[in-house]
Amino acid sequence: MSSGPSDNRIVIPAIHDWHLEKVLQDLGVLANVREGLAACEGCGKKVTLENLSAIRLGPNHTILFVCDGNDCLATVWTKGA
Ligand SMILES: [Zn+2]
Repeated sequence: MSSGPSDNRIVIPAIHDWHLEKVLQDLGVLANVREGLAACEGCGKKVTLENLSAIRLGPNHTILFVCDGNDCLATVWTKGA
């Protein structure tokens, strides 16, 4: 990636589930994902631990989820740039 140095993006590249869960827990959103309350910022599809590909911090410390669709990742990253 060639993004600027001072943004607040968090990219989670293919990591193990246990790590993913810890990241989500640290962000306070693990329960949301487990309960099916998290939606992909790109396509609106429900995001689960299985199809979650990335997390991004949005305005006001909101957490934006991105599913594993390549289009979604590109859409969300572009939209918030
Ligand atoms: Zn999506």
